Amino acid sequence: MTSLSGKVALVTGGTRGIGLATVRALAGAGATVVLTGRDEAAAKEAAASVSNQVSGQQLDVTDAKAVATLVKGVAKEHGQLDIVVANAGIMEGGLLGMIREADVDRTLATNVSGTLHTVQAAARAMMRKKTGSIVVLASIVGEHGSAGQTVYAASKAAVANIARSAAKELGRSGIRVNAVAPGVIETALTESLSEDVKAANTEKTPLGRLGKAEEVAAAIRFLVSDDASFITGQVLGIDGGLVL
Ligand code: NDP
Repeated sequence: MTSLSGKVALVTGGTRGIGLATVRALAGAGATVVLTGRDEAAAKEAAASVSNQVSGQQLDVTDAKAVATLVKGVAKEHGQLDIVVANAGIMEGGLLGMIREADVDRTLATNVSGTLHTVQAAARAMMRKKTGSIVVLASIVGEHGSAGQTVYAASKAAVANIARSAAKELGRSGIRVNAVAPGVIETALTESLSEDVKAANTEKTPLGRLGKAEEVAAAIRFLVSDDASFITGQVLGIDGGLVL
């Protein structure tokens, strides 16, 4: 594993699940990490649960101004910002006829605008040094669709295309942008899925099980490291072969 020692990383939505596993993976590889969550106490508690290389700050990614201020502040305090993982996201299911306007607004504001705000701010901070790596959280359903998850799938398709477009735009500035597209990973986000849905996904998965947050985190750690120095604009499936 390539060391991330000397690198400074920011992970949005790092209080639990894939975000917190990513914080652990990056800190474990030697990076100094700032994690965020909507509640300041929860963010600080999550940071303290990892190591003193990690700090926690309050941030709601739907607030463009707050994202810009926080990212600028992290880069200023540490003198650099090398890695940004735009992980914060929500999943609200609903069959087409049941979708409420408020759910659409909340999902798009968090998953699409929140990711966009984070990538924009990261690019500004990384541009000065002409180096950096950004990873965004897409999803298998953003690539293939999912009955009962139309809004979430649409939001994650947008996230994948934020990665592809930003990669094209930022490559000449030495900034790589990739996405991961997890399958069904056992976190708080997927707790609400019925046992039938989980069993059906397990059945369809060649590896015969659901995924773990640590397995997504390991792929993110690879993508942000110099081991992936010629990889940009990719959407990496982490799904046990579910899409095959
Ligand atoms: P969790 O629900 O476990 O964690 C979500 C994280 O996002 C929390 O830390 C939460 O922090 C944060 N968050 C939510 N809304 C906001 C907001 N408006 N501003 C800032 N932070 C926010 O989910 P997962 O770990 O499972 O998911 C992480 C990412 O991976 C998401 O983008 C999700 O869509 C994606 N993903 C997950 C899959 C899965 O199967 N689990 C599959 C495919 C993609 P807090 O509540 O403390 O503010």
